[in-house]
Formats: sequence, structure tokens, C-alpha cells
Amino acid sequence: MLKQLSEIEQEINSFSITVEDELESFRLKYLSRNGLLPKLFEELKNVSKEEKPLVGKKLNEVKRLAEGIYNSRKAFLEESLSVKEDADYTLPGRTFSIGTSHIITQTLREMVKIFREIGFKVTQGPELEEEFYNFDALNTPEYHPARDMQDTFYVQNKYDKEKKYVLRTHTSPVQIRTMMANKPPLRIVSPGKVFRNETVTYKNYFMFHQIEGLYVDKHVSMRDLKSVLGYFFRKFYGADTRTRFIPSFFPFTEPSGQVDVSCFICGGKGCKTCKETGWLEIGGCGMVDPYVFKAVGIDPEEYSGYAFGIGVERIAMMKHGITDIRMLYQNDVRFLEQF
Ligand SMILES: [Zn+2]
Repeated sequence: MLKQLSEIEQEINSFSITVEDELESFRLKYLSRNGLLPKLFEELKNVSKEEKPLVGKKLNEVKRLAEGIYNSRKAFLEESLSVKEDADYTLPGRTFSIGTSHIITQTLREMVKIFREIGFKVTQGPELEEEFYNFDALNTPEYHPARDMQDTFYVQNKYDKEKKYVLRTHTSPVQIRTMMANKPPLRIVSPGKVFRNETVTYKNYFMFHQIEGLYVDKHVSMRDLKSVLGYFFRKFYGADTRTRFIPSFFPFTEPSGQVDVSCFICGGKGCKTCKETGWLEIGGCGMVDPYVFKAVGIDPEEYSGYAFGIGVERIAMMKHGITDIRMLYQNDVRFLEQF
């Protein structure tokens, strides 16, 4: 009987089932009540006591094989038949979706392009930054509230315990790196990621992007700063865009200002986006503080300069009417493919 089972096993394995009729003859031959396998189960009682365990085991194996083949072929045939029945051949074929640049990347490129056209060079700095560049050299001493643990991600470097590291909280350390490595005149923009230890909400995220700008030369004045930002926003938002400066404070600029632009949605009349004020807050700026020049070895009596930082997410969100910053980083293709 073992020999017979091996033969049946081979037969089953090579049985061709490509149409429903063949599936049915397979079932009738091996699995139905009068099929081969149930019959062999009946004959099991005639097998000698010694052989019974082995034959029984083999018989069960062959039965499972036959059932497995039957079920998988049945499922396959049903599926292919149902596809044929349901298919509507008049429908257009499926299209491939082609990836595009992320909305933030697009906005960054658009911004950098405008600055490059007026002579700014693009530089980049590390995202994991030494505390010195992120704070000390930017006239932000240890007791300054911006260094509070709640705002900053501190990072331990177990190989270099002397230096303290942070995930940079702004793109301004690139100013320091640029001024330490180069002699004025300097004219750079530096786009990149920055990190803050903040609770994630619809308007706050622990990571976002900034564009830093720095211009250092002889006789650079506040007027140069105002004219370059005015030019940038007219190019970016349209020729009617107006810019205004409001006094503010940053440790590394003196005087410091907040930059507002006239609302590009309502043209300054007042709407939901600008909270009825007609103005949108876009970034910070100011004249490079003499203490910063001293920290990098530039003589503040000889040179002056301006610096600015613009928040990229804010600009992209307002431009496209996005109301929740988290949507930018959830990577939901249905959202991203709209831009
Ligand atoms: Zn408005």
C-alpha cells in the first residue's frame, strides 16, 4: 500500500488543472466519497498492525497534499474567472504616478533662486551643531532663556565630552562658520532644517526650515537690509507687496527687527489669513551685533553687516492655504501630490 501511495502522490503532483472541468475530475478521482483516498482510508483496517502507523501517516500526508492542491487551484480559477466577468474593457488603463519635489523643497528652491539672482551665494552648515556656533558666538550667553532645555535638543557625544552639541535651533550658526572661514565682503544665504524641543500642534513642529541671509562689507546699513528684503518679497509675492519692519530683539543683531509683508491674499485690506491686520509676520532680521563680529575676528569699526532669517513652512503654508503644519510631514501622498 505504501508503494501505491507514492504513485498516487506523484500523480497528484503532476495533475494538470487549468480549467474548471479538470478541477472537478481531480476532486472526483481523489477526494470525493468514492474517490481513491477515502477508499484507501477504508482499506486501512486490513493493513497489518506493524505497518499501520506508517501507512496511516503517509495516507494523511497524501490527503493533505491533494486537498491543498485542490483548494489553491480552485481559488486561483475563481479569481481569474471573476476578473474576466467584472472587467470593463472600456475603462482607461491605470496610470503610474510620477513623484514630484516636496512642497517645502519647491518653496526653498524658489526663494534661493531669487537671492542667487542678486548675488547671494548658497552655503550650508551642519544640523548637529556645536553649542559654540549655535549660541556662544551668537552673543547668546549661558544664562539666556533661549538656551533653556525646553527649547533646545542637547546631544551627547560620547567620543568628545569637551564640546557640547545641539540640534541647531536656527540657521544662524552658518553666519559664524562663514565669517570665521572667509574674509569680507560676504554675501550668503543658507537654507536648511532647524530643530526646537516643542510640543507638536497644528502650528508647531519639532523640525522646520529657515533661510538665513548674511551680508558683510564696509558701510552696510539698515537701508540695504530693507531694500534687499523688499526686493525679495516683491519678487516672491508680486510687485504690489509692501514690507514693514517692527522693532524686535535677537541677541546677535542690534538693532533687531521683525519683518512683515502686506497680506498677499487680501492685499492689505484684512482677511482670515492675516487675522484682519493686513500684514503677515515672515521672519526676523537686524544689523550684525559688534559682539558677534568680535567673536569671529572681524573688526566692527571697519565692517558692518545685516542678517535675516525667514521661516519657510510659514511661507509655503500661507501661499497654499495649508492650515496644519503636521500635514507637511505625514507623507500622505494624497496631500503631497496636490503641489
Ligand atoms: Zn489678509
